[in-house]
Amino acid sequence: MMPVFDPLRLASVSLDVLAAGRDAPGGVAARQRTRLARLLESAVHGSRFYRDHLAGFASGAPLDDLPTVTRAALMARFDDWVTDPRLRLDELKAFTADPQRLGEPYFGRFVIWESSGTSLQPGIFVQDAACMAVYDALESLRRNAPLSLRRWSDPLYLNERLAFVGAIGGHFASHVSIERLRQLNPWMRVNFRSFSIMQPVPDLVGALNGYAPAVIATYPTVAFLLADEAERGTLTFRPREVWTGGETLGPSMRQHIERALECSVRNSFGASEFLTMGWECGHGRMHLNADWVILEPVDEQGFAVPPGRLSHSCRLTHLANTVQPLIRYELDDQITVFEERCACGSAMPVIEVQGRRDEPLVLAASGGRRVTILPMALTTVIEEQAGVCDFQIRQTGPSTLVLRLPGRDAAARAAMGRCRDALLAFAAAHGVSGPTVLEEMGQPLERGRSGKVCRVLAAAMPSASEGKRTPLA
Ligand SMILES: [Zn+2]
Repeated sequence: MMPVFDPLRLASVSLDVLAAGRDAPGGVAARQRTRLARLLESAVHGSRFYRDHLAGFASGAPLDDLPTVTRAALMARFDDWVTDPRLRLDELKAFTADPQRLGEPYFGRFVIWESSGTSLQPGIFVQDAACMAVYDALESLRRNAPLSLRRWSDPLYLNERLAFVGAIGGHFASHVSIERLRQLNPWMRVNFRSFSIMQPVPDLVGALNGYAPAVIATYPTVAFLLADEAERGTLTFRPREVWTGGETLGPSMRQHIERALECSVRNSFGASEFLTMGWECGHGRMHLNADWVILEPVDEQGFAVPPGRLSHSCRLTHLANTVQPLIRYELDDQITVFEERCACGSAMPVIEVQGRRDEPLVLAASGGRRVTILPMALTTVIEEQAGVCDFQIRQTGPSTLVLRLPGRDAAARAAMGRCRDALLAFAAAHGVSGPTVLEEMGQPLERGRSGKVCRVLAAAMPSASEGKRTPLA
């Protein structure tokens, strides 16, 4: 079956993506206005969900006047949400449950992937050829630019092997995208292979050694693990580039990966909802593909956060997907948007992303009080004071924490001692009364079904109303 691909569409979108990247101030906003109007029109005409949801709002109302939506609300009315009546949730669930159908064009015209995400509410995402043309253009013209001299002579990667190391146990966005590329480009069937992170580390390292890819695309925590294996001498090849995404990449993680793997790291920002939201330019700044996606940074109450300030979360509006409209969709990522134009000359705004939040811990303090510990603070303290990045902290009781490290050798034992000291000092500084820290060594870090490591896990149970994980009271 032919993959979902429209070459003429890709050509016209590519020209527009190139022009938008060099546009004068105001050019991006003009594109947003035109595309938003088209999106709203198709949503109100084609989606029963949005017809109800946007009833009473004037057609020219500004975006930030419109009501927000959550994944749970959209998934609950999936068949009303999509603008093509042939798309039905029960049939799509059966499709994504079948591993044999991975990357298969649905009805010959849709690309389907699923997401488990950080909440307990899984999502199913549908893309048509027009939407895929936008992803393809953004991926090839922005994420992979500027091309090195070597890449200009081999733009199709004919002489280089690429490896995706990630979750390949489901119809996840990265895995489906690679399968589609392999169907589109016969040479990619040989030169682009996927490796499962669920296998034991020695098996993964052995398989990668046998393939010796020039480019590895993976999560930061996996790249970090491979860097450790390189230092240990078990990973015998050195990639030229590592592409990371899907998790937060801190500066110390990045340094370790670059140093141990002797390669450059290119980070990106994407989600199942919008595959290619941001890319890192040659100046090391993350740019938002604002010509095709609107991200509104908001505070805890949902009010707009000014440029230069870190948001609590954001609202996503997808300007390329009219099959499954996402308008002011609530996304957990914390972002900072900067007003100044980057020295690289791109017209696309610079952003910083804190990534999916790990979960806040609520711990018992003296006098019966409870103290909330921010996971980002905890990970920063362990990273910076103990010099350890691949760890997991799991709360199992009001004042019990389990600290897990994957290694069990002398270096890992020393690292465990440093983590423990840093954790206890941090807890004491926050008034937490004598937490019990249990140590677990030599066990892999737990990953969610999407393959991502959550480094801080609150004692959690699903809440019926939200479908989210909430700290144990
Ligand atoms: Zn830049």
